[in-house]
Amino acid sequence: MPRRLDPTDHRAITDRLRIAGDAGLGRRRQDEDFGWDKAHAKSLLPDVLAAVSGLQERLYAEGARKLLVVLQAMDAGGKDGTLRDVLTGLNPAGISVAAFGVPTEDERGHDYLWRVHQHTPGAGRITVFNRSHYEDVLVVRVKGLAPKACWSRRYAHIKNFERLLTDEGTAIVKIFLHLSREEQRLRMQDRIDSPDERWKFRAGDLDDRALWDDYMAAYREAIERTSVRSAPWFVVPADRKWVRNLAVASILRTTLESMDLQYPEPEKGVEHIVVT
Ligand code: AMP
Ligand code: MG
Repeated sequence: MPRRLDPTDHRAITDRLRIAGDAGLGRRRQDEDFGWDKAHAKSLLPDVLAAVSGLQERLYAEGARKLLVVLQAMDAGGKDGTLRDVLTGLNPAGISVAAFGVPTEDERGHDYLWRVHQHTPGAGRITVFNRSHYEDVLVVRVKGLAPKACWSRRYAHIKNFERLLTDEGTAIVKIFLHLSREEQRLRMQDRIDSPDERWKFRAGDLDDRALWDDYMAAYREAIERTSVRSAPWFVVPADRKWVRNLAVASILRTTLESMDLQYPEPEKGVEHIVVT
């Protein structure tokens, strides 16, 4: 597979990152730059975000369909950074973010999709999941929070749940920010060393880091078993933030474009009205 990609070809970028079958986590480089120049890639981002923002307005105007973006990554993988760098350009009236942490007692008392379903986007809207129902086949599996007999059934539930959403008019994109273990080490150390960022670090994060290989195996299976044409996974190289940003923005642009969003029909005769 040639590494180079045209940084302005958002469709080609999207196609390269979309997973069908083999997730290729071992083969896909976390520090991939596709031959892009850093300054050039950064300079392209505002235009892509402007296009995404225009498409968001159409989604809102159409007022029927919706977009769900699932963001998953290991700690320090760049979920918050992606929200900040890529999604803040959008009209805040049409976008919301739902973060999923350790379930509360109330949440644990229900099925694992219960807390998720109520945050799915309404008509014309975009919702970003910062972590998601996938944690129920990731952390739950790796840390043994539920028996295998329980979590192994969930891939099928998740596919059916997402199928329900897409059947009812929600486009879904699922993004795995693919970080290297070494880059995680650097970012965690940076957090610990800088007083302004220390709050982001929890000692428990090291437990997850120690289970890195198990997490990668769990990600691989989740991605391979649930990436379908109507709700695809994308594996985005995440060691370089400027590559990640342009890649995620390109995926959003391609996805919204492919929805062929239409402004609603204006009321009949409006074009003849003169406002006095
Ligand atoms: P953060 O995203 O860094 O604020 O951390 C949220 C934490 O919640 C992560 O350590 C996740 O592994 C954990 N978490 C999210 N969903 C679940 C879940 N369903 N069961 C157990 N832990 C979860
Ligand atoms: Mg954590």
